[in-house]
Amino acid sequence: MKACRRCRTINHDKNNPRCERCNSTDLTVDFSGVVYIIDPETSEIAKKLQIEEPGEYALKIR
Ligand SMILES: [Zn+2]
Repeated sequence: MKACRRCRTINHDKNNPRCERCNSTDLTVDFSGVVYIIDPETSEIAKKLQIEEPGEYALKIR
């Protein structure tokens, strides 16, 4: 799986060169940690990472 450098979304479809959320092609396998955001409104991690939509995100992207 790959993480999007723009929005941090985890993309599972390795045949798709684009991020499923923001359509960016700037994806990388060089990330660590995965976080599931269920409710961005109440999640401290979501606020810290500036995530506004529920989903699966990379914690650290190099
Ligand atoms: Zn993205």
